Amino acid sequence: MNESRPAAQLYLVPTPIGNLEDITLRAIRILSQVDTILAEDTRQTGILLKHLEIQKPLQSYHIFNEHKVLTGLIQRLEKGEQMALVSDAGTPAISDPGFLLVREALQHGIRLECLPGPTALVPALVNSGFPTDKFVFEGFLPHKKGKQTRLKFLAEETRSIILYESPHRVIKTLQGLAEFMGGERLASVSRELTKMHEETQTDTLDALITYFQNQKIRGEFVIVIKGKEA
Ligand code: SAM
Repeated sequence: MNESRPAAQLYLVPTPIGNLEDITLRAIRILSQVDTILAEDTRQTGILLKHLEIQKPLQSYHIFNEHKVLTGLIQRLEKGEQMALVSDAGTPAISDPGFLLVREALQHGIRLECLPGPTALVPALVNSGFPTDKFVFEGFLPHKKGKQTRLKFLAEETRSIILYESPHRVIKTLQGLAEFMGGERLASVSRELTKMHEETQTDTLDALITYFQNQKIRGEFVIVIKGKEA
Protein backbone atom coordinates (compact mmCIF):
# COMPACT_ATOMS: atom_id res chain seq x y z
CA MET A 1 0.00 0.00 0.00
CA ASN A 2 1.32 3.41 -0.90
CA GLU A 3 0.12 5.71 1.86
CA SER A 4 0.48 9.42 1.29
CA ARG A 5 1.04 10.12 5.01
CA PRO A 6 2.55 7.85 7.65
CA ALA A 7 -0.02 6.30 9.97
CA ALA A 8 2.18 6.21 13.07
CA GLN A 9 3.67 9.09 15.08
CA LEU A 10 7.00 7.44 15.65
CA TYR A 11 8.78 5.13 13.23
CA LEU A 12 11.86 3.07 13.93
CA VAL A 13 13.60 2.86 10.59
CA PRO A 14 16.36 0.31 9.93
CA THR A 15 19.24 1.52 7.78
CA PRO A 16 21.91 -0.47 5.87
CA ILE A 17 24.66 -2.27 7.80
CA GLY A 18 27.06 -1.69 4.92
CA ASN A 19 25.48 -2.04 1.51
CA LEU A 20 23.38 1.03 0.75
CA GLU A 21 21.12 -1.02 -1.54
CA ASP A 22 19.66 -2.64 1.57
CA ILE A 23 17.45 0.33 2.43
CA THR A 24 13.80 -0.56 1.79
CA LEU A 25 11.40 1.43 -0.38
CA ARG A 26 9.20 1.99 2.67
CA ALA A 27 12.14 3.23 4.75
CA ILE A 28 12.87 5.82 2.05
CA ARG A 29 9.22 6.88 1.94
CA ILE A 30 8.92 7.20 5.71
CA LEU A 31 12.16 9.16 6.00
CA SER A 32 10.85 11.51 3.29
CA GLN A 33 7.49 12.01 5.02
CA VAL A 34 8.21 12.49 8.72
CA ASP A 35 8.77 15.96 10.18
CA THR A 36 11.97 15.12 12.08
CA ILE A 37 14.59 12.37 11.97
CA LEU A 38 16.17 11.39 15.28
CA ALA A 39 19.67 10.11 14.58
CA GLU A 40 22.33 8.40 16.68
CA ASP A 41 24.94 10.33 14.73
CA THR A 42 23.56 13.20 12.66
CA ARG A 43 26.68 13.33 10.48
CA GLN A 44 26.47 9.65 9.57
CA THR A 45 22.72 9.86 8.89
CA GLY A 46 23.29 13.07 6.95
CA ILE A 47 25.47 11.09 4.52
CA LEU A 48 22.74 8.47 4.03
CA LEU A 49 20.06 11.13 3.55
CA LYS A 50 22.20 12.95 1.02
CA HIS A 51 22.59 9.68 -0.90
CA LEU A 52 18.79 9.25 -0.79
CA GLU A 53 18.27 12.92 -1.73
CA ILE A 54 16.16 13.50 1.39
CA GLN A 55 16.29 16.81 3.25
CA LYS A 56 14.86 16.70 6.76
CA PRO A 57 15.59 18.32 10.10
CA LEU A 58 17.90 16.03 12.07
CA GLN A 59 18.12 15.80 15.84
CA SER A 60 20.63 13.86 17.93
CA TYR A 61 19.33 10.90 19.89
CA HIS A 62 22.08 8.76 21.39
CA ILE A 63 22.97 6.94 24.62
CA PHE A 64 24.47 10.08 26.13
CA ASN A 65 21.37 12.29 25.74
CA GLU A 66 18.44 9.85 25.50
CA HIS A 67 17.33 10.39 29.11
CA LYS A 68 17.62 14.16 28.83
CA VAL A 69 15.64 14.61 25.61
CA LEU A 70 12.95 11.99 26.31
CA THR A 71 10.26 14.21 27.88
CA GLY A 72 10.60 16.90 25.21
CA LEU A 73 10.34 14.36 22.41
CA ILE A 74 7.23 12.75 23.92
CA GLN A 75 5.57 16.17 24.24
CA ARG A 76 6.29 16.95 20.60
CA LEU A 77 4.99 13.55 19.48
CA GLU A 78 1.84 14.10 21.54
CA LYS A 79 1.31 17.43 19.76
CA GLY A 80 1.32 15.60 16.44
CA GLU A 81 4.90 15.84 15.18
CA GLN A 82 5.91 12.74 13.21
CA MET A 83 9.36 11.36 13.81
CA ALA A 84 11.62 8.60 12.58
CA LEU A 85 14.38 7.15 14.72
CA VAL A 86 17.47 5.77 12.99
CA SER A 87 20.74 4.46 14.35
CA ASP A 88 24.12 4.44 12.63
CA ALA A 89 23.42 1.04 11.09
CA GLY A 90 20.82 -1.68 11.28
CA THR A 91 17.66 -1.67 13.36
CA PRO A 92 17.31 0.99 16.07
CA ALA A 93 16.89 -0.41 19.61
CA ILE A 94 18.85 -3.57 18.72
CA SER A 95 22.11 -3.02 20.62
CA ASP A 96 21.46 0.63 19.79
CA PRO A 97 19.48 3.49 21.35
CA GLY A 98 15.72 3.25 21.02
CA PHE A 99 14.31 1.09 23.80
CA LEU A 100 13.76 4.01 26.19
CA LEU A 101 11.88 6.07 23.63
CA VAL A 102 9.75 3.08 22.58
CA ARG A 103 8.82 2.28 26.18
CA GLU A 104 7.96 5.88 26.99
CA ALA A 105 6.02 6.38 23.74
CA LEU A 106 3.92 3.27 24.40
CA GLN A 107 3.22 4.41 27.96
CA HIS A 108 1.88 7.68 26.50
CA GLY A 109 -0.31 5.92 23.94
CA ILE A 110 1.77 7.16 21.01
CA ARG A 111 1.39 5.04 17.88
CA LEU A 112 4.70 3.61 16.82
CA GLU A 113 5.90 1.23 14.20
CA CYS A 114 9.21 -0.51 13.66
CA LEU A 115 9.87 -1.16 10.00
CA PRO A 116 11.45 -4.51 9.11
CA GLY A 117 14.89 -4.14 7.58
CA PRO A 118 18.63 -4.59 7.94
CA THR A 119 20.10 -6.02 11.12
CA ALA A 120 23.38 -7.93 11.50
CA LEU A 121 22.14 -10.79 13.64
CA VAL A 122 19.86 -12.45 11.08
CA PRO A 123 22.32 -12.91 8.18
CA ALA A 124 25.02 -14.05 10.64
CA LEU A 125 22.71 -16.70 12.11
CA VAL A 126 21.61 -17.95 8.70
CA ASN A 127 25.20 -17.94 7.35
CA SER A 128 26.32 -20.11 10.28
CA GLY A 129 24.31 -23.13 9.17
CA PHE A 130 23.35 -23.73 12.83
CA PRO A 131 19.71 -24.32 13.79
CA THR A 132 17.59 -21.24 13.17
CA ASP A 133 14.32 -22.53 14.59
CA LYS A 134 15.31 -21.41 18.09
CA PHE A 135 18.07 -18.97 18.97
CA VAL A 136 19.11 -16.43 21.59
CA PHE A 137 20.48 -12.98 20.91
CA GLU A 138 22.89 -11.87 23.63
CA GLY A 139 24.09 -8.60 22.07
CA PHE A 140 27.45 -7.53 23.52
CA LEU A 141 28.82 -9.52 26.45
CA PRO A 142 29.78 -7.46 29.51
CA HIS A 143 33.39 -6.29 29.19
CA LYS A 144 34.58 -7.20 32.66
CA LYS A 145 32.16 -7.51 35.54
CA GLY A 146 29.68 -10.30 34.90
CA LYS A 147 31.40 -11.65 31.79
CA GLN A 148 32.49 -14.95 33.38
CA THR A 149 29.03 -15.51 34.89
CA ARG A 150 27.41 -14.89 31.52
CA LEU A 151 29.80 -17.26 29.72
CA LYS A 152 29.15 -19.97 32.31
CA PHE A 153 25.41 -19.53 31.84
CA LEU A 154 25.65 -19.54 28.04
CA ALA A 155 27.75 -22.73 28.06
CA GLU A 156 24.57 -24.65 29.00
CA GLU A 157 22.38 -22.99 26.36
CA THR A 158 21.05 -25.51 23.82
CA ARG A 159 19.80 -22.94 21.27
CA SER A 160 22.07 -21.15 18.77
CA ILE A 161 23.63 -18.11 20.48
CA ILE A 162 24.31 -14.81 18.71
CA LEU A 163 26.81 -12.26 20.06
CA TYR A 164 27.93 -8.88 18.79
CA GLU A 165 31.58 -8.06 19.32
CA SER A 166 33.99 -5.27 18.56
CA PRO A 167 37.11 -6.05 16.50
CA HIS A 168 39.53 -5.52 19.38
CA ARG A 169 37.73 -7.98 21.66
CA VAL A 170 36.81 -10.71 19.20
CA ILE A 171 39.76 -13.04 19.94
CA LYS A 172 39.42 -12.57 23.70
CA THR A 173 35.75 -13.42 23.47
CA LEU A 174 36.41 -16.52 21.36
CA GLN A 175 38.97 -17.57 23.99
CA GLY A 176 36.46 -17.00 26.79
CA LEU A 177 33.86 -19.04 24.92
CA ALA A 178 36.37 -21.87 24.41
CA GLU A 179 37.27 -21.80 28.10
CA PHE A 180 33.67 -22.29 29.20
CA MET A 181 32.25 -24.31 26.30
CA GLY A 182 35.31 -26.29 25.26
CA GLY A 183 37.51 -25.63 22.21
CA GLU A 184 35.66 -28.24 20.17
CA ARG A 185 32.34 -26.37 20.27
CA LEU A 186 31.32 -25.19 16.79
CA ALA A 187 30.96 -21.48 16.14
CA SER A 188 30.70 -19.12 13.21
CA VAL A 189 32.15 -15.66 12.80
CA SER A 190 30.62 -13.32 10.23
CA ARG A 191 32.66 -10.25 9.44
CA GLU A 192 31.77 -7.14 7.44
CA LEU A 193 28.32 -8.42 6.43
CA THR A 194 27.01 -6.93 3.16
CA LYS A 195 30.34 -5.15 2.60
CA MET A 196 33.20 -5.67 0.14
CA HIS A 197 35.25 -7.85 2.52
CA GLU A 198 32.37 -9.92 3.89
CA GLU A 199 33.41 -13.35 5.13
CA THR A 200 32.01 -16.08 7.33
CA GLN A 201 34.26 -18.66 9.02
CA THR A 202 32.60 -21.65 10.66
CA ASP A 203 34.71 -24.09 12.64
CA THR A 204 35.55 -25.18 16.18
CA LEU A 205 36.29 -22.35 18.63
CA ASP A 206 39.93 -23.46 18.79
CA ALA A 207 40.29 -23.36 15.01
CA LEU A 208 38.62 -19.94 14.82
CA ILE A 209 40.99 -18.56 17.45
CA THR A 210 43.97 -19.77 15.42
CA TYR A 211 42.47 -18.38 12.20
CA PHE A 212 41.84 -14.90 13.60
CA GLN A 213 45.17 -14.80 15.45
CA ASN A 214 46.75 -15.03 12.02
CA GLN A 215 44.66 -12.23 10.52
CA LYS A 216 44.63 -8.48 10.78
CA ILE A 217 41.43 -8.01 12.79
CA ARG A 218 39.37 -5.40 10.97
CA GLY A 219 35.72 -4.58 10.58
CA GLU A 220 32.56 -5.55 12.39
CA PHE A 221 31.86 -9.00 13.80
CA VAL A 222 28.99 -11.25 14.78
CA ILE A 223 29.75 -14.51 16.57
CA VAL A 224 27.24 -17.36 16.44
CA ILE A 225 27.78 -20.39 18.67
CA LYS A 226 26.10 -23.73 18.15
CA GLY A 227 23.99 -24.62 21.17
CA LYS A 228 25.06 -27.35 23.54
CA GLU A 229 23.98 -30.81 22.38
CA ALA A 230 20.82 -31.62 24.33
N1 SAM B 1 21.49 -2.00 15.40
C1 SAM B 1 22.46 -2.87 14.78
C2 SAM B 1 21.78 -4.10 14.21
O1 SAM B 1 20.56 -4.05 14.01
O2 SAM B 1 22.44 -5.08 13.91
C3 SAM B 1 23.58 -3.22 15.75
C4 SAM B 1 24.35 -2.04 16.25
S1 SAM B 1 25.64 -2.46 17.35
C5 SAM B 1 26.08 -0.91 18.01
C6 SAM B 1 27.00 -2.71 16.26
C7 SAM B 1 27.41 -4.17 16.19
O3 SAM B 1 26.58 -4.85 15.25
C8 SAM B 1 28.82 -4.39 15.68
O4 SAM B 1 29.77 -4.30 16.74
C9 SAM B 1 28.75 -5.79 15.13
O5 SAM B 1 28.81 -6.74 16.18
C10 SAM B 1 27.33 -5.80 14.54
N2 SAM B 1 27.37 -5.37 13.12
C11 SAM B 1 26.83 -4.25 12.61
N3 SAM B 1 27.06 -4.19 11.27
C12 SAM B 1 27.75 -5.31 10.96
C13 SAM B 1 28.28 -5.84 9.74
N4 SAM B 1 28.17 -5.19 8.57
N5 SAM B 1 28.94 -7.03 9.79
C14 SAM B 1 29.08 -7.69 10.96
N6 SAM B 1 28.61 -7.23 12.13
C15 SAM B 1 27.95 -6.07 12.14
